[in-house]
Amino acid sequence: MTVTTTTETEKVTDYSRRGDIDAYLGQLQGEAFRRYRKEWRQAEKELRFFPYPLFLVVETVNTCNLSCAMCFRSRTPSPQPAMMSLDDYRRLIREAGRLGCPSLSLNLNNEPLLDPLLVERVALAREAGFIDIRLNTNGILLTPEKSRALIAAGLTRLSVSIDAASEETYRRIRTGGDYRRLLNNLEAFVAIRDELQAVLPVLRCTLVKIRENEHEVDAFINDWQQRADYVSIQSYVPHSNDDESMTLHPDQQAKSANVTCSQPFERLVVTVDGNVLPCCSPQGAEIVLGRWDDTGLAKIWTGPQAMNLRRMMRSRCWHDHPVCSSCLNGTFDGHENQETALPEKETT
Ligand code: SF4
Repeated sequence: MTVTTTTETEKVTDYSRRGDIDAYLGQLQGEAFRRYRKEWRQAEKELRFFPYPLFLVVETVNTCNLSCAMCFRSRTPSPQPAMMSLDDYRRLIREAGRLGCPSLSLNLNNEPLLDPLLVERVALAREAGFIDIRLNTNGILLTPEKSRALIAAGLTRLSVSIDAASEETYRRIRTGGDYRRLLNNLEAFVAIRDELQAVLPVLRCTLVKIRENEHEVDAFINDWQQRADYVSIQSYVPHSNDDESMTLHPDQQAKSANVTCSQPFERLVVTVDGNVLPCCSPQGAEIVLGRWDDTGLAKIWTGPQAMNLRRMMRSRCWHDHPVCSSCLNGTFDGHENQETALPEKETT
């Protein structure tokens, strides 16, 4: 077992032989990448505003092929399946590229490998100037052909949700998944990346710690750090006040009346139906800042609704906001005295 580095935030611990992920990718990607990560830290820690979003999240399809224990999707009705056209997507990311937006995620709370145009979308994002292109996937549809195409298209980060170190636990948590198939897919991905002598995308394997898998955390770290670039252990973040069923230890929750949220300083989220949101939280779907095809990303980013949200987060006056108070109280219910931003579902 080789643990050379751990990087810890409020809710996430990364184990890696590569060292800090920002430093590692900064070495590989150069000065523009290092500058963007510095700006990200300023947005996240200091709630600093930049005249362009640092991160665009695009929901290109709204479906998922699994129904996992900790996912809010398994407790809400499935939406009507939809997909963003390639023309719309091209216009969207070109606009974001012109604005200077450096990073892109090609999924929200969906499974991105269900998008048959995914590889083309990654290549278009590279063309539009994005320097950090990410996917979070359950890996079930990551065939060797898809791996090869995604590596060639210029994906930067591939994050795979596994959540178990045994087939039995995996089956209990990731309903509809296939543990053996997932392992084969990841083995093929690493072999193909080696064969192509590529270093990107970096592979991060993640486990969200809940009661059902707590006993497998050490085994998960030991198993995956031999094969993945990063192994990430995340604490489960409840989605609402009544969502405590998966939570391990209530005292692990962040504590504060002073807690705030940095997502409106970092990102814009565009849903498959064209709505623009300020965050990736499920509750954020209720804060529609506009429609990108009517208003454009630039006007939405600097528009009054987004600026008011940022003012509210800076002054920590979110308690009367119907959506953000539900989100922050759900996540940090009843705790006090920690000045920290809302941790994300995925580390960035
Ligand atoms: S507090 Fe929650 S709902 Fe409000 S902007 Fe932040 S993540 Fe979104």
